[in-house]
Amino acid sequence: MSDSGTLTKTGLVTLTDVNKHFGELHVLKDINLSIQKGEVVVVIGPSGSGKSTLCRAINRLEPIDSGDISLDGQPLPSEGRALARLRADVGMVFQSFNLFAHKTILQNVTLGPMKVRGESKAEAEKKARALLDRVGVAVQAEKYPAQLSGGQQQRVAIARALAMDPKVMLFDEPTSALDPEMINEVLDVMVGLARQDMTMVVVTHEMGFARKAANRVVFMADGQIVEQAEPEQFFTDPQTKRAQDFLSKIL
Ligand code: ADP
Ligand code: MG
Repeated sequence: MSDSGTLTKTGLVTLTDVNKHFGELHVLKDINLSIQKGEVVVVIGPSGSGKSTLCRAINRLEPIDSGDISLDGQPLPSEGRALARLRADVGMVFQSFNLFAHKTILQNVTLGPMKVRGESKAEAEKKARALLDRVGVAVQAEKYPAQLSGGQQQRVAIARALAMDPKVMLFDEPTSALDPEMINEVLDVMVGLARQDMTMVVVTHEMGFARKAANRVVFMADGQIVEQAEPEQFFTDPQTKRAQDFLSKIL
């Protein structure tokens, strides 16, 4: 964690008693989670445990039923320009890359900064090219998404999120849809971000990434945070039966 200098330990992202239902289904149950600036939190857990819903709630793609979520000490706005700003502050990378198919790689990255942040085309393109270089796809700038591999597209998606200068980056199983040989090229970019003190919430089953980059592993099951610990501690000595069972299946 890089935030030890501050007096308070208020999180950059704080969830307090968050509950969410889909009809009868209680998908987030009294979630309390505080993520410090510069912290990398890996969220793991069985399918259906609420990991994606948690990410989507932080971005307000999913409204919550009760509780509070704050970013940088401010409650999440529910609509209008404040919501657009929130979305810019919370970068999100999904399993499916969601690039605009009919726009070039460069346009994919410049669109948000120009539309939401009011950056000039020249300014946005300069930054976009630097970001594309950082994620290793600068050469592809004038191509269209379909001309890139899945790993390259996902790196573009990361560059696109970074172009908004987010305060926190959420990754929801960013490598699950990739062919095995492309997984590491995406994880390497994420490890690089973590080392540069980006605040990150990463839903992944890539335990190598968790060990290398996470400050904390949060284990969810059945809509609850069942256990959380530093990666080494969690992987070598999980405390709950549910975490032990889960790890025995994936490790
Ligand atoms: P995870 O990402 O851990 O696999 P999700 O957050 O996607 O879990 O889903 C948690 C539960 O909520 C699952 O049972 C899922 O089927 C259900 N769910 C997710 N999204 C919706 C939705 N839009 N409508 C109804 N049920 C949903
Ligand atoms: Mg999910």
